[in-house]
Amino acid sequence: MSTGFQGKFHRQNMLSRFAKDLVRRSRSHCELCEKNGVKLDVYELPPLEKEPFVDGCIFICDDCRKQIIEPKKMIPSDWRCLNNALYSEVPAVQAMSFRLLRRLVKKDERWAEELLENAYLDPEVEEWANAAE
Ligand SMILES: [Zn+2]
Repeated sequence: MSTGFQGKFHRQNMLSRFAKDLVRRSRSHCELCEKNGVKLDVYELPPLEKEPFVDGCIFICDDCRKQIIEPKKMIPSDWRCLNNALYSEVPAVQAMSFRLLRRLVKKDERWAEELLENAYLDPEVEEWANAAE
């Protein structure tokens, strides 16, 4: 695996090539909060594979991204959208929703706990969700 600046550049380059597919997949709505008409960006779910792949990415708005990157700034009421996102047709969106719900459970959000208790995810998706925080 290439490292440093070149590696990073290569990765960014590949991710930007996914954007076209992701625009189609998301129909230009944030794949988590369903917001439309805002800037959407590719977010790669950790842990990162050697090479990025489109199904390992979600297409999300800045508000969602900020709260994912800084869990301390998470505003629980912003995340009711996970009710729907958890049942997205896209496994990466399901896995990310699962992770976010777990974070909300740690913040004592009862509704998130209930949602997770009743959730049914593919074992593969659940394993993926468990691979990172
Ligand atoms: Zn969003």
